[in-house]
Amino acid sequence: MKGNPILEVRDLQKHFHLGSGKTLKAVDKLNISIASGETFGLVGESGCGKSTAGRTIIRLYEATGGEVLFNGENVHKLRGNKLQEFRRHMQMVFQDPYASLNPRMTVGNIIAEGLDIHGLADGKQRKQRVSELLDAVGLNEEHASRFPHEFSGGQRQRIGIARALAIEPQFIIADEPISALDVSVQAQVVNLFKKLQKERGLTYLFIAHDLAMVKHISDRIGVMYLGKLVEVTTSEELYANPLHPYTQSLLSAIPIPDPEVERTRERIILEGEIPSPLNPPSGCPFRTRCPKAMPECAASMPEFKEVQPGHFTACHLY
Ligand code: SF4
Repeated sequence: MKGNPILEVRDLQKHFHLGSGKTLKAVDKLNISIASGETFGLVGESGCGKSTAGRTIIRLYEATGGEVLFNGENVHKLRGNKLQEFRRHMQMVFQDPYASLNPRMTVGNIIAEGLDIHGLADGKQRKQRVSELLDAVGLNEEHASRFPHEFSGGQRQRIGIARALAIEPQFIIADEPISALDVSVQAQVVNLFKKLQKERGLTYLFIAHDLAMVKHISDRIGVMYLGKLVEVTTSEELYANPLHPYTQSLLSAIPIPDPEVERTRERIILEGEIPSPLNPPSGCPFRTRCPKAMPECAASMPEFKEVQPGHFTACHLY
C-alpha cells in the first residue's frame, strides 16, 4: 500500500437476521486498508458480499460488528454535523445508470442535488458548477436541461459520476460501475475514472465481478468469497502470482489475446455452484469447489495472513 491510509476497515461484519433463527453473514470480518490516492479493486462472484461491504463502508447499512475508520474517525459512530461532513467526503457511483437517476429530474438538477443538500452553491454559481462537472465527465452544458432517458448507458454513467463529484469528495465507492454497460464503452468509463483520479487526487474502492477490468484501474486487488477476503495484493502480483485456488480459477477464465497461448493454456473449471451464505461449508468456505482441497480444509478455517511481502491469503496450502 502506498501512503497513509485514508480508509481502514477492521473486522467489519454485516449480518442480516432473516427470522426463524437464520443469519446471513454477507460480510464477515473484512479487513482492508486503502491509502489516499489509491484504487483498491474488490472482486468476486455475485453474492460474495462485495456490494454489501461497499454499502456498509459508506454507511448505507449499519455494521453488525467491527469498525470503518475514515480519516481516523469511526464512520459508524458519527452523528449530526460530523456525519454530514463524512457524507460530503465519501460518495458512491452505482451499477445501474438507468435505475440510479431520477427520470423526472433534469440532468442539471440531478448533478446539483448534492450542492443543494449541502447548501454549497446557488444561482449563477450552481449553473457554472454543473457546466464544469458536465465538461469534466465528457458531456457539455446543453445536456443540463435534458432528462436521463435521452442518454445512452455510458452517458448516464457519466452523469452518475458527475453527480458523485459535485461536492468534491475525497473518496468514491464505485459499485460495479461498468457491468451494465456495453463492452465498447466500458474502457471509456474506466479511463474517465482514471483521468478524474489524476486531476482530483481521488481515492477509489472499485467493486467488480470481472478481474480483467479491475486490473486496468486498481493498484491493489482484494478477492472475496462468501463474505470473506481470500487474497489481497498488488494488481501486478495478483496476475503474475495468484496464490489462492479461487483467484487462480478466476484468472484462468480470462481469455488471453494471443491465440497460440490461448489454445494451449490450462483452464480451471470450478465444479458446483457457490454455496448458500446461509449455510456455508465448515472450515474453508471454498473447499466444496476447490480442486486442491485436503482433509484439514474441512476441519478448520484458514487464517488470512501475509505469506509474501504485501501478499495476503487465507489458504491451508501456505
Ligand atoms: Fe482449497 Fe483448502 Fe486452500 Fe481452501 S484452504 S482454498 S479448500 S486448499
